[in-house]
Amino acid sequence: MRISVIGCGYLGAVHAASMAELGHQVVGVDVDRRKVTALCEGRAPFYEPDFPELLRHSLGSGRLSFSTEVADAAEADVHFLCVGTPQKHGEYAADLHFVQAAAESLLEVLRPGQLVVGKSTVPVGTAAELAAMFAEKVPGALLAWNPEFLREGFAVRDTLHPDRLVYGLPAGEDGAAVERMLDEVYAPIVERGTPKVTTDYATAEMVKTAANSFLATKISFINAMAELCEATGADVKQLADAIGYDDRIGRKFLNAGLGFGGGCLPKDIRAFMARAGELGADQALTFLREVDNINMRRRIRMVELAREVLDGSLLGKRVAVLGAAFKPDSDDIRDSPALNVAAQLQLQGAVVRVTDPAAVENSRREWPHLDYADTPEEAADRADAVLVLTEWRQYREIDPVAFGDVVASKRVLDGRNALDREAWTAAGWTYRALGRRAG
Ligand code: NAD
Repeated sequence: MRISVIGCGYLGAVHAASMAELGHQVVGVDVDRRKVTALCEGRAPFYEPDFPELLRHSLGSGRLSFSTEVADAAEADVHFLCVGTPQKHGEYAADLHFVQAAAESLLEVLRPGQLVVGKSTVPVGTAAELAAMFAEKVPGALLAWNPEFLREGFAVRDTLHPDRLVYGLPAGEDGAAVERMLDEVYAPIVERGTPKVTTDYATAEMVKTAANSFLATKISFINAMAELCEATGADVKQLADAIGYDDRIGRKFLNAGLGFGGGCLPKDIRAFMARAGELGADQALTFLREVDNINMRRRIRMVELAREVLDGSLLGKRVAVLGAAFKPDSDDIRDSPALNVAAQLQLQGAVVRVTDPAAVENSRREWPHLDYADTPEEAADRADAVLVLTEWRQYREIDPVAFGDVVASKRVLDGRNALDREAWTAAGWTYRALGRRAG
């Protein structure tokens, strides 16, 4: 099939290259000229494991190209909408102006029989509005909502091997036609028996925000338990292990620590609350406000813990922050808990040096007032405390014995419960973690 992908960020670029890998002829369109130039040259504009190889392979096959011009999408049978839906400034609601602009630009090329497929995470009701607009301006054009569940760090695998496909379809005969088109797009994925849910627009839109709300709730639940563990002297890691053995609960997403960040969970739960309010159903989601509050409190607690460990004052103390990305295997620093903590420490007088295997360049651009180092050793040089705030494998594998020679004082704060406490304490470090007794 001929496919266009409008918006080539973390989601769209991987989607475009993956669709070419499935055998389709794909053009990725983005308004960001620098991103398009990089993609055309086979350079990934962001860090994502396996993506550079996939990109170069798809470009080499001749099935993938990129453009800044929506006119180059004119011949596509299917147009995927993958633009951003960030939080509005000063509000909880999602900012839909990228979606609106992309949909309007598509009107220049859209023809009857072509299918627009929304993948962006949008407030429930958006698809119905877009469908009405397309029906008025291009009668016979079709719309589906097909939310995306990929995780940064696993984006290629998640796109090519998703847990499930969700198709939000128009009613009636159009629905059957759209389902056939989507099945053709995803043929290898459908044929291997991947679970598929075919439903209406509203349910498809809500599946995504409900899934993210559940995941955020699970993280905040265990972080609330961590608060209690801190008050009682109990150990949240053992608690998570013990409750996680119950199949109904499960151990995944029960890692207590600095909480969630990034370009999805925080803004998605807030947009969900805002939409519930617009629909007169705000009571249904009041618990998400608490989920958000618990999450944000962890960042404040991390700074308090650093102060505690540093004998009650941050002023003039040298602090190494290991991790800037909101999660490992990504260079994404949107709403990064690690950078938030680093900035608070600096504001309170600490001399902070931040390092990250992939996100220093992005961090320097967005947080220019912080100091950066290329390696953990450089960041921790003569440090009074080391904070591990993103659980990169490289940081989990640090040898605490050798690392002890670099710092001024062997104090480590494990913001992700990712380190081997016994190994660090055996090497003479004072080990502290959220939700756990001092080690
Ligand atoms: P992003 O900001 O990385 O990418 C969005 C891209 O769209 C940018 O490159 C931007 O230049 C481009 N764009 C904006 N307006 C455009 C227009 N009119 N025409 C063409 N391109 C345009 O965002 P992202 O992380 O890729 O997220 C995109 C959507 O996918 C969001 O709704 C997000 O919630 C959802 N999502 C993201 C992930 C993830 O892990 N990043 C996972 C699932 C769903």
